[in-house]
Amino acid sequence: MTDAPEVRTRADLVLRNVVLPSALCQGLPGTDLGDGLMRMDLAITDGRIAQPGPAQQVRDMGGRITLPGLIDAHVHLDKTLTVQRTGFARSGLAEAVGLAMADAPNRTAADLTARMDRAIGMAWRQGTVALRTHLDSMTAPDDSPAWQALAQMQARWQGRMVLEPVALMRIDRALEPGFATRCAQIAARGGLAGGYIPAEGCDPAAVDAFLIHAGHAGLAVDFHVDECLDPNAQGIATVLDAIARTGFDRPVTLGHCCALSAMDRPRALALAERMARAGVRVIALPLTNAFLMDRAPGTSPRLRGMTMVQELAALGVPVGFASDNVRDAFYPYGAYDLWEVFRQAVLTLQLEAAPQDWLPAIAARAGQVMGLEAGIIAPGAPADLIVFDARDWTDLMSRAHENRLVLRAGHPLDGAPAWT
Ligand SMILES: [Zn+2]
Repeated sequence: MTDAPEVRTRADLVLRNVVLPSALCQGLPGTDLGDGLMRMDLAITDGRIAQPGPAQQVRDMGGRITLPGLIDAHVHLDKTLTVQRTGFARSGLAEAVGLAMADAPNRTAADLTARMDRAIGMAWRQGTVALRTHLDSMTAPDDSPAWQALAQMQARWQGRMVLEPVALMRIDRALEPGFATRCAQIAARGGLAGGYIPAEGCDPAAVDAFLIHAGHAGLAVDFHVDECLDPNAQGIATVLDAIARTGFDRPVTLGHCCALSAMDRPRALALAERMARAGVRVIALPLTNAFLMDRAPGTSPRLRGMTMVQELAALGVPVGFASDNVRDAFYPYGAYDLWEVFRQAVLTLQLEAAPQDWLPAIAARAGQVMGLEAGIIAPGAPADLIVFDARDWTDLMSRAHENRLVLRAGHPLDGAPAWT
């Protein structure tokens, strides 16, 4: 006869009197406060959320709003923190691409690891638990300093930050010899295949070959698509047509999709319905889109530059918000702070009627895009939490909350804010 497993009767810690958005909370009893908020005591045992009960230690959170660890499903760690040497685009996306390409020779192994490590640290300190990063991939991963630097970061940040790479490639590379080998290397490193689909679309044969090779290697794909305000943009349709022709059945993420907001409404809605039927996921990038779209020196922007997230979400398309570029040629500011991204999204997209409905876009829904079960507070989930010094939506949304308390596996990171 074996010994019965030890029965825990006391949690390690109870956070008393926390307020959670019900959209980010599952299977936990609490008091409904209305407005999408619930008050409860949150028990933590062995670094995970536990059923409520007596505890070794109790901390009163004073009714402060608490979110799970957040998920940033679209960043560029290879370009980040280079704006001091690249400058930033005055005239839009094409100029930014040129500035970034000119800087590529400066991206040595030492440069990449130093900048990536700093960027990941910024995200970590603010409560982010996972990053999907695009990496410019002129060569196959085995020959790429950026992929090697990322592998070092995956080892260094193991257990603290999920780091998922996407190979950002020319689509027509799929027609070149060696693309199957390249896809196999991406798969071996746990990555995705990605690329830039311009407004005019791409050679259908190249997109088909891209998806066929990706499918054979078991790769999901993540494209930059229709990052423009051309009402006649064909990028999204190009991808959807290729999915239909090839029967590609792995997850497809489409970043940007700004052009939907510039198309005439019936055409945009028809395209959104096709996106829903194809099962694609969409990531909107509020800071970079606001910066680059409808941009020209000496003129004021008239268009907001963001895709039609409300219509896509209503059709059942998973929509996430992410950082995209941080302090590089594409966007000169930013701090890997998803709270800043979320506030910008709510303002730009006029989502303030129900911000709670959109919080999953930086948490569980962004996790769904990445295939992660994260971004939710539930029994058994890691006790990765962010406690904001705010007790209602108005106060929460009104401030940057740089003094938030971040807990990982139930333990506060160093440098707890003064209010604790
Ligand atoms: Zn991007």
